[in-house]
Amino acid sequence: MKNGYSRFMWQVGVLSMGLVAGVSWSWAATPEENAERQRINQLKISDTPFEKLSHQTLSEWGQKALKIQEKQWKHAESEHFIIHYPLIDVRDRFIKEAEFYYWKIKNDLKVSQDLVDHKSHIYVFVDEAQWRQFQANTDVLQIGGVCLGNEYFCLYPKRREKESSGTAAHEMTHLVFNRFFVGNPPRWLNEGIAEYQARKAYFAYHGQRYESINKDTSALANIDFFKMTELTEYPQGSAARSAFYVESQLAVETLIEKGGPERFVAFVNTMIQNPDFKAGFDAHYLETFKDAGGFLKEMERKEKQIKYRH
Ligand SMILES: [Zn+2]
Repeated sequence: MKNGYSRFMWQVGVLSMGLVAGVSWSWAATPEENAERQRINQLKISDTPFEKLSHQTLSEWGQKALKIQEKQWKHAESEHFIIHYPLIDVRDRFIKEAEFYYWKIKNDLKVSQDLVDHKSHIYVFVDEAQWRQFQANTDVLQIGGVCLGNEYFCLYPKRREKESSGTAAHEMTHLVFNRFFVGNPPRWLNEGIAEYQARKAYFAYHGQRYESINKDTSALANIDFFKMTELTEYPQGSAARSAFYVESQLAVETLIEKGGPERFVAFVNTMIQNPDFKAGFDAHYLETFKDAGGFLKEMERKEKQIKYRH
């Protein structure tokens, strides 16, 4: 279904997105998105022996991943990514989507400088027992996927493709982001960017919204935005955690929509240096919103749309 969506399919996608996600950007894929999707879908990806890969220096986690059932792993690379995957073929599904996300971030945020001198690694497990083994070996538990620097690890059981696709989109967006920015933005901003950008890119690529892991907005009203920007850990409890992601996504959406991509990128770089939201806001957004109150008002408007639509 990746190629040749009928007009009807696209309209259905647009409709369901508008009803559920409460977002206000335009969801029809643009002609340039369609052209890029077609270009990427036509890429010929072929397997490469590990010793012929353009980058063979794996992190400790990467090495641990490939030790699990050592003989099962195949490898391939595209322009910006190297994928390690088991005998069951999920290669093109991931590497092409990653390339599209790469293009989309570059295009949306107007960032041109890729700062990493080697390709990013993607490790895909399709067997749940093996994924549990990997998590136990790395002390990371209860996740569907994780991005660490220039590597991304995930579970992708084909029979649970739909529910895994949102996590994959989100984490692959972190992976792409890490090629264009040095250092980590504060937690809310990092997650907000991943959620916002992943949703846009996923829709432009697949023509439908992804199965969200963060759609519970019941705790949204309890969030104090400024306090949230100071969090260095994720909130406890699934409702609070979900609201944290939604609020962060809305904040990023508001900043990008109202101030444009260049201002946003400058803001992100400032926030990487100093995570104080008010200082970063005053440095970049006073012209756009007059003051932080104006920004919060715009956020509230978006929050209401979400509650209304759910
Ligand atoms: Zn994330």
